Amino acid sequence: SSDESVVKTQKSRRLREKQRAWQNSFAGQQILQIRKSLPSYGVRETFLQALSRHQVLVVTGETGCGKTTQLPQYILESEIEAGRGVSCNIICTQPRRLPVLSVAERVAAERGEDVGESVGYKVRFEGMRSTNTRLLYCTSGVLLRRLMVDPSLKAVTHVVLDEIHERGMIEDFLLVVLKDLLPRSTRLKLVLMSATLNVELFASYFDGAPIQQIRGLAYPVEAYFLEDVFEMLGYKPKRLLDYVQSRERKIEHHYIETNISTELSDPVRDNFQSFDNRSFNRMTQDCALNWSGPEFSLIEALLEHICSNEKKGAVLVFMTGWEEIYGLMKQLKSHSILGDSRKVLLVGCHGGMTMTEQKLIFEHPPPNVRKVILATNLAETSVTIDDIVFVVDLGKAKETSYDVHNDTPYLLPRWISKSSVLQRRGRAGRVRPGVCYHLYSRYIYNQLPEDQQPELLRTPIHSICLQVKSLKLGNIVHFLSRALQPPEIIAVTKAVEFLQTIGALNEFEELTDLGQHLSVLPVEPRIGKMLIMGSVFHCLNPVLTIAAGLSVRDPFLKPLDQRELAEEARLKFSGDSFSDHLALLHAYERWDLAMKENRARAFCSDNFLSMQSLLAMSSLRKQYLELLRASGFVQDHSRTLSEHSDDTTLLRAIISAGLYPGVLSVMKDAVSCTFKTVEDEEVEIHANSVNARNKMGIRFPWLVFNEKVKTSHLFIRDATGISDSMLLLFGGRLTFGNEPGHLLMDRSGLEFFMRRDLANLYVHLRNTLDTLLQK
Ligand code: ADP
Ligand code: MG
Repeated sequence: SSDESVVKTQKSRRLREKQRAWQNSFAGQQILQIRKSLPSYGVRETFLQALSRHQVLVVTGETGCGKTTQLPQYILESEIEAGRGVSCNIICTQPRRLPVLSVAERVAAERGEDVGESVGYKVRFEGMRSTNTRLLYCTSGVLLRRLMVDPSLKAVTHVVLDEIHERGMIEDFLLVVLKDLLPRSTRLKLVLMSATLNVELFASYFDGAPIQQIRGLAYPVEAYFLEDVFEMLGYKPKRLLDYVQSRERKIEHHYIETNISTELSDPVRDNFQSFDNRSFNRMTQDCALNWSGPEFSLIEALLEHICSNEKKGAVLVFMTGWEEIYGLMKQLKSHSILGDSRKVLLVGCHGGMTMTEQKLIFEHPPPNVRKVILATNLAETSVTIDDIVFVVDLGKAKETSYDVHNDTPYLLPRWISKSSVLQRRGRAGRVRPGVCYHLYSRYIYNQLPEDQQPELLRTPIHSICLQVKSLKLGNIVHFLSRALQPPEIIAVTKAVEFLQTIGALNEFEELTDLGQHLSVLPVEPRIGKMLIMGSVFHCLNPVLTIAAGLSVRDPFLKPLDQRELAEEARLKFSGDSFSDHLALLHAYERWDLAMKENRARAFCSDNFLSMQSLLAMSSLRKQYLELLRASGFVQDHSRTLSEHSDDTTLLRAIISAGLYPGVLSVMKDAVSCTFKTVEDEEVEIHANSVNARNKMGIRFPWLVFNEKVKTSHLFIRDATGISDSMLLLFGGRLTFGNEPGHLLMDRSGLEFFMRRDLANLYVHLRNTLDTLLQK
């Protein structure tokens, strides 16, 4: 082993020589000049010194000051310079996948290398690294997965957690794990990086870790709000009122749809401020608004104004998601100025971008062309675009949210926090004084929360509870109580119970085989279970569609003035299936065909379907399939996807496996039909469900559903009829009741009276099914 250490020393020396040679080269010198101009360079030495003295360090600095590309690189450089090049191993995490690739490329280039040499990257399905890689940029999820196989991070010397101000669930979770790990791994160093200043919380969580501040060079930014923008565009007050009213109608529409119409106050629209107040409250409650119509026209008018009247500089528009970006881009392309590629370079910036699209956002167009970037909040802190002078901020971001009545997380556009507003505004003042247009009123701005709520407190924590188990971190409640801002105990115990009910944990809170599988799939457990079942039973193709349908906005549109027609369209897809999920499946399949034949637009408008939602489903399907393939669930591709795809009985069973314990019993007498949940609550079926039309005709004893909404009544929305045996075989675990002979019960208390021999048969079949899942 002394030979080994000689080899190591030699290798480290070679690394140092290589680094010095690059730094002294002409190209290296040029890049160094650029790097030295970044604000972070000013703290290089103090940062490295502090890091040598402390195990944990917190760093804050404006977006663009050089945190992500420079600080991990300083560590790498100084380790190589100190002759420890071979032994150092730095991991820098990002909450999102997208910046990982571009940052690694940038840093490698700054070191005169290609990605995959000393600097590498790793995201879920791709990566580029080698045994020589010493600095690895990855997503937080990749680090989480690494902890599963290497719980004490043996070979790692530095962990840098970036963007911790976002308070993502995985980052908060990693903080607890690392806090536990640090006292045991004394040579491991931890750096936390944040784009916002208020980081005392993090510092005190790590027993008063020092805070290093990087002072940025921010130029002043003029801020305008909706009122100012209307005046600037010369809109008459009447126009303002129209805009406001059309949004109001949309909100009202949405609320009628979700049965909250009773909560609407009188639609008095004589006062701008009171409008804002009411709509603000309603929108923040739970309103999934589509950006379209009036918003698009307003953005278009504003962009036209900027392009024809304002000084040079790129424009960054903050929107909510790629569907909206895609929609607006399409509209702008047909505009005389904005659609003219000799005048305007239109670029999208969102999580689904390809590498070539990504390069476009950093590109500097010719002097007479103005770059307009339509972005999600990815551009808020994760991606720095150099030449932005104008920012247009719609005040919203898509965020997973969670409603206690409803165990499925939804990605909804929501109002952002004041600190996000400041971040967005700051994007305009990077190169010179800038301008920011906030497309909401000052009144709304004042109502915004100061900071975003941590994800751990606003989303279901089922998946994170599973992670605690798969990382063998002990008791779930106990572990999560040590988080930065712990979730309520009741939320944790509920999540644990839920995981037991769906069969992911046993009664001793241990992972079952199913739980083990679910913990490697980064999706919500119920969706994961459905997908696994679909793979096991070789009917994945339709199951992918149904699972995707659970996570997007309902593709069935409900225009108020054509309600009847829209309902008929939906019923046509459902046939006599008594299933909203199968209706959506059929609609999707027909749409998919129409897409291939280039007639999808017409198909959507004929059938009252939302193109955006269907496109979103199509992209989700691909993601799910990719996940399953990567986790080894899909081996024989065509068999797994379609061998039993046409078996609707099987599909119903798999839907119930996924949606359990969302079960209603259908209770009919001669004149009426009522529905009860497993908790014995009476519920109604929402008018949008195909099952609402012909309740007496429902020929199934049970309905499984994915969503419960509490308004004036308790409603369920999408539902599918299933039989006794589907519930017994694919529902929760079976136990024998006390009464001799005739009673079989499943965990959630649903009771089935049956002969002992039949009951035995069911238990036998269930065991066979469980064995199948072990493989
Ligand atoms: P921070 O993490 O503090 O927001 P970064 O380290 O991401 O800052 O960026 C520092 C600087 O490096 C930015 O000003 C930007 O101009 C430049 N930069 C970062 N990534 C790229 C890239 N992929 N291409 C070109 N320049 C980049
Ligand atoms: Mg950064």
